[in-house]
Amino acid sequence: MNDEDGQYFYHPLENIEETEVFYEAIGREHLTKSVSAERPYTYWTIELYDQKNGIRGGGGLGVLAADTRRVADQMSVPFVLITPFYPSESHQMLRDRTVYEQQVKADYHKFGFKFVDKVNIKTKHGLCHLDVIEKKFNTTRIIAVTEPNFGELYSNTSGSDHRLYQEVSLGFGGYAALKLIGLKPAIIHLNEVATFFAALARLDELASNGMDFYEAVVYTRKHTLYTNHTLVQAAEAEFSYSQFEEFVFPNLKSLAVKKWLSDKFTNEKIRLSSVTIEIAELRSGVSKLHARVANYHDIAGNKVKFKAITNGVDMNKWMLPSLYAFYQEIGLVNQFGMPSSNYTELLPSFDSDTIRKFKKEGREKLNGILKNRPDQNNNILKFSKDDFIFTFKRRFADYKRPDLPFSDPVRLRNILESRDAHYIITGRVHTGDQNMLHKLYALLSEVDHDDYLRTHVHYLSDYDEDLAYGLSCGSNTVINIPIVGLEACGTSWMKDVANLGILISTHDGGVADASVNSYLNVSGSDESEELDMLYQRMEESIAIWENDYDLEYNVQRQLENFLPIVSGARMMKDYLDYLFPK
Ligand SMILES: *Cc1c(COP(=O)(O)O)cnc(C)c1O
Repeated sequence: MNDEDGQYFYHPLENIEETEVFYEAIGREHLTKSVSAERPYTYWTIELYDQKNGIRGGGGLGVLAADTRRVADQMSVPFVLITPFYPSESHQMLRDRTVYEQQVKADYHKFGFKFVDKVNIKTKHGLCHLDVIEKKFNTTRIIAVTEPNFGELYSNTSGSDHRLYQEVSLGFGGYAALKLIGLKPAIIHLNEVATFFAALARLDELASNGMDFYEAVVYTRKHTLYTNHTLVQAAEAEFSYSQFEEFVFPNLKSLAVKKWLSDKFTNEKIRLSSVTIEIAELRSGVSKLHARVANYHDIAGNKVKFKAITNGVDMNKWMLPSLYAFYQEIGLVNQFGMPSSNYTELLPSFDSDTIRKFKKEGREKLNGILKNRPDQNNNILKFSKDDFIFTFKRRFADYKRPDLPFSDPVRLRNILESRDAHYIITGRVHTGDQNMLHKLYALLSEVDHDDYLRTHVHYLSDYDEDLAYGLSCGSNTVINIPIVGLEACGTSWMKDVANLGILISTHDGGVADASVNSYLNVSGSDESEELDMLYQRMEESIAIWENDYDLEYNVQRQLENFLPIVSGARMMKDYLDYLFPK
């Protein structure tokens, strides 16, 4: 996609002096002492979504990981991302109204990764050899562990042996890989609990190298951050003691650590969140609302407090390059992508001509991407600058309600017809999710049965970064309607706001960091009220795009309230502030 685009306005800092200027700018001069090339910020993730570097993830968790690394690179933070490399990746294709999964072999050699060496992890039955591969960037790198039978991302069920094997490989294998390369983590940032074993590997190393066990626990806890993305602890899969005997305990050298971990089982079962809470003193949630409502308890039964650090996006990656250049030219954001202190005064630069000019250019980008992405009727779509496009682009998960707008097809049709508008849906159905597969088929069949909808509602399969980018740049209005309380943050809508699209949303996740008056809010005391309001908002958004004053008002209002939230640089600064207090 934006192989060349991605580099246009990317100013990596040249040297340590510039880095110090940056640290000073964010008031963290002491960081030069806390993190360095040899003692980097380490970020652990079971999923990375970074197609440009040959790694495809499943959704938001992986996109966040990729954005976090890219932003760290732009800010010259010494940062290492450790992740599994899955030798095959899954694609979803729609043919004759049926979804097919296709496995494609992934080859890291094509994407600039170098083989470093092998490391071992142990199971009850013997050694497993893992390849360590690495790719270096400005001040960041990706280190991955892999082997030919590693499987794919989220293969098998979440409490299965294979998942545990993958998670242990990432934790113990990744920790051994860091040592092999000669790196010591300044901080261990765990992106969800599947990465718990990295912190365990560190605790085991300290405790088996002569540090007093309790000191080792205190030290590990002080330097470990657990970022939670889930709302309900009870929904998490459990592992059994015998699974740990097979895959985990053989990797522990310290008897004290083994005893400590064994004691954390209840009825021979363990949830990784409960031990992750024990090993990480620093804990964060991914939006204000999520940090407040995530319902987690430690082993003693106390409710866990999460620090709110709302996700952001790498604007350099997700924005139309000329638009991001404009942000920088007018001083809306600085060279690191941080909103300037007076950014609200600069918003009048977004007059309707400017907004329409960038949308026209975004539409051309979208058309370029759509050339290879036929819709459900096998049509290649091409839109003129005057076409109106609604977009719903997100994983086909039940709580995101992709089918809600189709509850009243006649009303939907009337809205679209009033402006001859198009409605584009894209989103992967989670492998094996029969419920959502049926909802997708029902939706497509409903669309098929209406002459107008058939030519104006388009489903694009295999939702990925390219579609996310193109639709963010080229749509007028985007729809984000999770059931309130179920979206931890969501980042897809941030890409739309940054690209000057009009946002229709329920008040959930990161959207709820700002007030309900910041965007076109959908609410109601039940789903039918919400639906009615959604349709009203769709009509309103059509009217907004017809009127220059309304368009300026709405786009400027969104930027005023959301720019600092959307900024990935702001997110990185928040993490640095939390991890390395003065
Ligand atoms: C941005 C992005 C996401 C994140 O989606 P949310 O539903 O907002 O968390 C998922 N998948 C892809 C391909 C993306 O680009």
